[in-house]
Amino acid sequence: MLKIDQELGQLTLDLVNISSVSQDEKAISDQVQESLGLVKHLKVTRINNSIIAQTNFGHNKRVVIAGHLDTVPANHNFPGKKIDNEIVGLGSVDMKSGIAAALKLAHDVSQAKYDITYLFYESEEIETKYNGLELITQQSKDLLNCDFAILMEPTNGIIEIGCQGSLRFEVSAKGKRSHSARWWNGKNAIHDLTDLLQILNSYKSREPVIDGYKFREGLQAVKINGGVAGNVVPDLVTVNINHRFAPDTTPQAAEENMKKLFKDFNFKLIDVAASAPTGLNNELIKEFISVIGTDIAPKFGWTDVARFASAGIPAINFGPGDPNLAHHPDEKVTIKQIEDVFNSLKKWLTTK
Ligand SMILES: [Zn+2]
Repeated sequence: MLKIDQELGQLTLDLVNISSVSQDEKAISDQVQESLGLVKHLKVTRINNSIIAQTNFGHNKRVVIAGHLDTVPANHNFPGKKIDNEIVGLGSVDMKSGIAAALKLAHDVSQAKYDITYLFYESEEIETKYNGLELITQQSKDLLNCDFAILMEPTNGIIEIGCQGSLRFEVSAKGKRSHSARWWNGKNAIHDLTDLLQILNSYKSREPVIDGYKFREGLQAVKINGGVAGNVVPDLVTVNINHRFAPDTTPQAAEENMKKLFKDFNFKLIDVAASAPTGLNNELIKEFISVIGTDIAPKFGWTDVARFASAGIPAINFGPGDPNLAHHPDEKVTIKQIEDVFNSLKKWLTTK
């Protein structure tokens, strides 16, 4: 059985070595459920492969400490190993070191100034419809009730606030198909891309300063499709584009901005994920920041903090591991950083 009261380096390694690629989380969920089930001050609930463990200290404020159990597929980095003072291997950064810290907190913190809901959920790394938080929201929304949520995604041990939204869309240029030997009978859609590439290349990213922190928007073509055969003038080319927008912009406004920018092309929205505010005016976040006392940075990537924010719950990212190494074959994290994050959270939960 998984020993959640052991030293954090070994606990992280034990978690890394339970394979849990998205949609294959049963084994790790079983172990997390079993080990938390032995902790007297927790009530444990399972929804599919997500585990929810709640304290009932009788406080009027509740905080959520959350992390996903799944990883991306292995890339010659499974099983993991300990090398000197680091844990190396699949998911060590994203995010089994965070899961290790949360599990040990769940075990160790038997008295706190808030009630706590620990959330270990499935399938964060794949499409939203599989996301464990989504399933809990649909089946048992009350389990997510709280006043403040911490996502233990890798932040290198600093506090990351807000998050940028993401808009994915497709623009296409239409031409007219013809034989390439008699090209004057057609209109080449690929050649029509000049204007589109010009728009992308000359786009100036907005860098709004929000609550004192500088965000950085983005507009990147991520895929291109076009062409028929070696002797055909192509009549269609499509480009997939990803726009990252700052917390001061709504998904609707972001979509309008993009439609305006690409007004001369066919525009098709693929999906949109809302941004999240910084939450810096929230009392619980202010108190958290003052107790933790570490650096603060804006979150450029999209995370599940936005899911909490859209439910009106302020949320931040705070966890061990360098986010630049997430999904990287060389994932590794220092044991010291896992311990630092654990100790900070423990101090925050238990300091009156
Ligand atoms: Zn993650």
